[in-house]
Amino acid sequence: KAKQLGKNQCVFFNNSIYEEFINSFALTNEILHGIEFEEFELYFQPIYNTHSRTITNAEALIRWNHPKRGLLSPFSFIPFAEQSYIIEKLDFYVLEKAFQAIKSFKQENLNIILSVNLTGRTFLMDNFVDQFRKLLSAYAIDTSFIKIELTESIALNDENKARNHMDALNSLGINFSMDDFGTGYSSILSLKKFPFSNIKLDQNFVMDSQNNKDSEIINSNLLNMLNELNFETTAEGVENEFLFFLFNYLPCDLLQGYFISKPVDYKRFVSFVKNFTPDIAFMEFKKDNTR
Ligand code: C2E
Ligand code: MG
Ligand code: MG
Ligand code: MG
Repeated sequence: KAKQLGKNQCVFFNNSIYEEFINSFALTNEILHGIEFEEFELYFQPIYNTHSRTITNAEALIRWNHPKRGLLSPFSFIPFAEQSYIIEKLDFYVLEKAFQAIKSFKQENLNIILSVNLTGRTFLMDNFVDQFRKLLSAYAIDTSFIKIELTESIALNDENKARNHMDALNSLGINFSMDDFGTGYSSILSLKKFPFSNIKLDQNFVMDSQNNKDSEIINSNLLNMLNELNFETTAEGVENEFLFFLFNYLPCDLLQGYFISKPVDYKRFVSFVKNFTPDIAFMEFKKDNTR
C-alpha cells in the first residue's frame, strides 16, 4: 500500500509544472548535446519504382543513438523538438547529413532521389531560404536528387510564406512531396495551391485497403485522379505482399514499406540497392497485369 502511495506521489510530481519544466529543459540540453556530438544518424528507407522495378528513391529518417537509452525513434523526440527552435537545429542537421549522403551516393554511382522531412516551423523560418541556399552551396550536389516532404499543416499558419519558400526552392530545382496525404486536414482542393510534384498516401490509408473494400475503392480512384492531375504518387506502409501487388496494379509510381525494406543505416542501404532484384513471382505478376 505504502509503495503504491509512493508511486502515486511520484506521478503527481512528474505531472507538476515544475517537473515538466525541468524535464523539458533537460531534454532540450540532451538534444543540443546530441547534435554537437553527432548522436543523430540518418537511416534510409528504400523506395521501389513500379516503372523501372528498381530502387530509385529513398526517405531519410532520423534516429538517435542515445548514449544511455539506445537507438531512439523520432517519435520520442521530434514532437518535443517541434515545440521550440530545437526542431530548426535538428532539421538543418538532417539536411546537412542528407546532402552528404547524396554526395556519397553519387560517388558510389547510385542514382537515388532522397526525400527529407521538414517540419512546418523550420520551413517557415524567415531566413529559411537563405540558410538553405547557404548549406546547399557548401555541397556541390545536383538538386534534382533532393525531395522535400512537407505535411499540409505548413499552409495553416502562413499560406503565402509557404508558397514563396516552395517557389524559391523550386527554382533551385528541388521538388516537393506532400506527406501523409489522406489524414487530418489534407484537402484535395489545397493540392493545387502549392507546387507539390509528389503525393504520398498516408500509411494508415494504404494499409486499410488490406481488409476494407471501400478503402481500396477510395485509393484506386484517388490514384487515378492524382495521375490525371499529373502528380507522381507514393504509397507508404506497403507492409506485405498483398499491398505490394495491389499498389503495383493500381496506378502508383512509388512504393515504400516494410515489404520492400525497413529503414536501414547507410551501409546496409547501399548494399540493398546494389543487390536489389525484383522477386520472380512479382515479374510473373507484372506480365499478366500490364497496365
Ligand atoms: P513519415 O515521414 O510519415 O515517415 C514514415 C514512417 O513510417 C517512418 O517512421 C517509417 O519507418 C514508417 N514506415 C515505413 N514503412 C512502413 C511500414 O510498412 N509499416 C509501418 N508500420 N511503418 C512504416 P519513423 O522513421 O519512425 O518516422 C516517424 C515520423 O517521424 C516520420 O513520419 C516523420 O514525420 C518524422 N521524422 C522522421 N525523421 C524526421 C526528420 O529527419 N525530420 C523531421 N522533421 N521529422 C522526421
Ligand atoms: Mg515522410
Ligand atoms: Mg509519411
Ligand atoms: Mg506517416
